[in-house]
Amino acid sequence: MHVLLVIGHSKHSKGAKNLRHKNRLNEYDLNSKIAPLLRSSIIAAGHKCTIITGNSVRQKVSKVNTYNADIMVSLHLNAFKGYNKDAHGCEVLIQKGDLSSGILASVLLEKFSNVISTNRGVKQRTKRKRGGLILCATNATIRVLAEPLFIDGTEGLMMLDADFTDNIAMLYAEGILEYIERMC
Ligand SMILES: [Zn+2]
Repeated sequence: MHVLLVIGHSKHSKGAKNLRHKNRLNEYDLNSKIAPLLRSSIIAAGHKCTIITGNSVRQKVSKVNTYNADIMVSLHLNAFKGYNKDAHGCEVLIQKGDLSSGILASVLLEKFSNVISTNRGVKQRTKRKRGGLILCATNATIRVLAEPLFIDGTEGLMMLDADFTDNIAMLYAEGILEYIERMC
């Protein structure tokens, strides 16, 4: 299997951040640390894995489409306007009606729910909705966009301090590898 990991946002526009955190952690920097850890686990299990970055979603879409990969996971973190202490929970987005990708989304949510208090479920997206373009315009067979937690809620703030990147990378790896095993 060939798995693509698309890092959400870019080094010029880093996505959501936690304004209350001492290091003002942001989505792009955290996912840039998670992706190589996750890649190592996927490769160790005998699969191919490529990390995709880019300055815009369109640029990432064209990079993704050069691979015809089996699985694409777009790595994000959720946010509610910079800070809302009550914002919490994990969700995974898929293209509207793409029930095959919905299976991977559910497996990932199962894993995230081991450490995140609320499973907000699988959300279906059309091309024009937030996160929709990378899901709808790419050609990987299975495509999901994951938001394991709210970076700007109290729960996120607590998570960010506790071996966060290792833990999240491990949950992603368990989910992706379990999905591949189930499907093969
Ligand atoms: Zn994002």
